[in-house]
Amino acid sequence: MESYGYCGVDCENCSDLKDGKCPGCRRTEWPEDDPCPPVGCCQKKNISSCAGCETFPCAMMAEFYEESDSHREARKRMERLRNQRRPAHTQRI
Ligand code: SF4
Repeated sequence: MESYGYCGVDCENCSDLKDGKCPGCRRTEWPEDDPCPPVGCCQKKNISSCAGCETFPCAMMAEFYEESDSHREARKRMERLRNQRRPAHTQRI
């Protein structure tokens, strides 16, 4: 099963993966005052990823999604998820 972070990055391709190990942003106990920014933001909004955000992509994430191919892929993943949730007549094709 594909797993991805709150931001949409495929965990297998996450730049924070070190020696094949990753604490996993969904499993990590982030310090309340210093979580990964999209993790903290999604948790405050009580949404499972940025795909559920009404302002997606915010300026911070728009910049993040331009940083690398895996981040661009993450944006596409989030856009696909958003599209799946929309009523058919409003979906982008
Ligand atoms: S896209 Fe939305 S949920 Fe994600 S970090 Fe930006 S404001 Fe937060």
